[in-house]
Amino acid sequence: MEKDKDIEMILKLQGIDYELGELERSKDYLPDMISNLEREMQEISNGLEGFEKELTEHTLLYRKLDIELATLNQELAKFQKQMRDIKTNKEYDALTNEIVNRKLKISSTEEEILKILTNLDDLKEKIKQYKQKLEEMEKYNTDQLTYLKKELSSIEDKIKIKKGERKNVTVRIDKRLLSTYERVKKGRGDHVVVTIKKRACGGCFKAIPPQKIQEIRKGEQIFTCDNCGRILIWAEDSS
Ligand SMILES: [Zn+2]
Repeated sequence: MEKDKDIEMILKLQGIDYELGELERSKDYLPDMISNLEREMQEISNGLEGFEKELTEHTLLYRKLDIELATLNQELAKFQKQMRDIKTNKEYDALTNEIVNRKLKISSTEEEILKILTNLDDLKEKIKQYKQKLEEMEKYNTDQLTYLKKELSSIEDKIKIKKGERKNVTVRIDKRLLSTYERVKKGRGDHVVVTIKKRACGGCFKAIPPQKIQEIRKGEQIFTCDNCGRILIWAEDSS
């Protein structure tokens, strides 16, 4: 068993498996990222649509009230003119009533118009902000979306390529070592090959007997951790 070559190959395998894991994970998170970006734009766009609809409604209401106000003012002027020609107290009372009534209506209509005008200003400001936000977002999100969608559509191809690479590596690894690797991977996940750190297993931190460390350092054989089963290697930063 050529230990150096085996270690090199098993580390290569571990690297490939990590990348394969990332690709599998991205099959979940890429669609999430895509729908988040799309939803983000849709929300702003819906908000903008709502404000624009409100602006149209309030503009129409403003025009309607403005016409009403003009009519009320015309009526008031007409009654005030008639005041000059009254002949009886009854006429006076009736006309006074009309005048007071128009004045009240004018004042409340004016108040309403003022409120609407303030509202229209607010809406215009909000629309301006939302348009700007949407423009910025579209600029950024469109690029992101193009990138993410391209990534997503190429995942299966990338996985296929990686699996091919994996096969090329596994055929060059000692069968017993490979089956150890596969078994530990099934139980422990990504970190199958670990370096020795502070005289302990880098995976489960269980101390390793000095004798075993000596043998691992000599590099004549590949050892696994008694506790977690991971493949132990001595690296430059081991201690
Ligand atoms: Zn261990």
